[in-house]
Amino acid sequence: MDITLCRPGGRRACSVCCGCFNMRDISRQSLSSFLERGLERLSLFGGGSEPELHSEVRDETTHICPFQGLAEALPGCLLHPAIHGSDGRGASLYGERICGEFFCPAHHLLDEGARRLLLSMELDWYLYSIAILDPLGFVWMLDEAFGNDGRSSGPGLSPAEAAAVKSALEAHAAFLNRLDGPIFYYSRSEYLLDYHRFSPASGSPETERHRLSLRQLLRLSA
Ligand code: SF4
Ligand code: SF4
Repeated sequence: MDITLCRPGGRRACSVCCGCFNMRDISRQSLSSFLERGLERLSLFGGGSEPELHSEVRDETTHICPFQGLAEALPGCLLHPAIHGSDGRGASLYGERICGEFFCPAHHLLDEGARRLLLSMELDWYLYSIAILDPLGFVWMLDEAFGNDGRSSGPGLSPAEAAAVKSALEAHAAFLNRLDGPIFYYSRSEYLLDYHRFSPASGSPETERHRLSLRQLLRLSA
């Protein structure tokens, strides 16, 4: 796991595992507004237990941490020592150790080639997060853009291929927002058990129409 995906630089960063994609409305506008209010939530926090969020959620059993927000205009943990000055993550439900040591399924499911291709793309934090929460969907998009020639671990994306994958990620985000239920999983096994509900990589009947429309987008744009 050489390349860590959490905050790799540029406009890419992620706080998906902090729960923001458990919001019912995961549009860019809704999540931006939630993250923009992170500093305000933090300033109102006087210690003790976490402030409660009153948002419509996808999965009642999955936590949305109030301490995520925008740091240097990118999503991240406002209690992280690099941002907060000292490590304040102990105040959160997960605590300092889990927050510091967790790696999401993308870290296990994206091989080095796919990670390099992901990092080579000009994505904002939102589309980057979509690729992180459905890593095999992202690999599927690469394969489709490359015409299934097995180059997803190859050297690079042409500008047309990168534009096609970007459009597909945007369309995938809109599709995910229309679905009910969870779209992010904390373990690889849970993700693989449930990705038939939403991932074009699953080949499932319920994603067939979406897969065809993405395929058209990827092939037409490339
Ligand atoms: S979801 Fe994955 S890439 Fe994003 S912050 Fe969490 S561990 Fe890092
Ligand atoms: S305290 Fe933990 S869960 Fe909360 S935003 Fe920071 S890293 Fe994420």
